[in-house]
Amino acid sequence: MSRPLEAVIRLDNLRHNYHVGRALAGGRALAVVKANAYGHGAVQCAKALPDADGFAVACIEEALQLREAGIAQPILLLEGVFEASELELVERHGLWLVVHHEGQLAMIEAAKPQTPYTVWLKMDSGMHRVGFAPADYAAAHARLCASGKVASITMMTHFARADEPGAQATADQIATFQAATEGLAGDISLANSAGLIGWPAARVGWGRPGILLYGASPMPVDGPAVELKPVMQLKSKVFAVRELATGEPIGYGASFHTSRATRVGVVACGYADGYPRLASTGSPVAIDGVRTRIIGRVSMDMLTIDLTDLPDAGVGSEVELWGDTVSVNEVAAHAGTIAYELLCNVKRAAFRYR
Ligand SMILES: *Cc1c(COP(=O)(O)O)cnc(C)c1O
Repeated sequence: MSRPLEAVIRLDNLRHNYHVGRALAGGRALAVVKANAYGHGAVQCAKALPDADGFAVACIEEALQLREAGIAQPILLLEGVFEASELELVERHGLWLVVHHEGQLAMIEAAKPQTPYTVWLKMDSGMHRVGFAPADYAAAHARLCASGKVASITMMTHFARADEPGAQATADQIATFQAATEGLAGDISLANSAGLIGWPAARVGWGRPGILLYGASPMPVDGPAVELKPVMQLKSKVFAVRELATGEPIGYGASFHTSRATRVGVVACGYADGYPRLASTGSPVAIDGVRTRIIGRVSMDMLTIDLTDLPDAGVGSEVELWGDTVSVNEVAAHAGTIAYELLCNVKRAAFRYR
């Protein structure tokens, strides 16, 4: 028997979630498949979305991977190009590109494309990471128009706090964007997943859903919800069982001691697979839809779970680390992080596509 850790990727759930995101956006959405589709496999996910309006990736390497796999829809480079030499590939592969700073604007002006570029011009409406300042935005827009190198401009911005329902910062970002784009020609794009789920005012133009495609909501558990289906089920098996008396330690550092006679299941999954080490004792797992918990520290290749109340479980039992019974958001909360990071980090598992 080979090591039983599997990431099962349910592509029908991905399609469902994309359609939810696109409907929220009001009709058009780029599926964000950067970082290998948040760890799910960019090529497989893109191929599973033949009706997607387009895709968004972080960089040209990710875009070329999709083109080489035969993906023909538009692909947007969310960070644009890092150097002018990429522009030739942008043109050859018909990629769309974000322009977010003066250097990129100058590269476009200096380029000699045969076919003009499709540009998404980014505004820093308050996140203060990348983008043109609102006061400089109209001038950047005018330079692109005047360059003769650009076929169309989509005006975009990105939210810093859209996952906080009611946060004034997001309302301010929307207002700033609206004021600074007043009278400028072009499509617009505001919303990531949290913007789509939580901010009706951001549901305009192109949506840019990422995390919601994979079935994890970025909103707090008591926040606004939409009907998403988890795409990844990370599962493994119990491969050894221990019976411990009360008061016995388990695992590295003896961070956990049994408080009753305890049946311990050892599961083939550890932090080298991307399971977060910080989600040790107390983190939920499920066997046949019944939840139990990790006890002791997660180690590199194994973790230990409490089987005391699951008498039918034993060697060979299938354990869901996250997926349908245990959400990746819950595990992330136990690890003090977000679902995005856990999903991106899965490795060494056998990926199976359904
Ligand atoms: C990653 C990214 C998104 C998607 O964000 P989610 O929170 O995963 O929906 C949208 N827009 C930009 C510019 C991004 O970088």
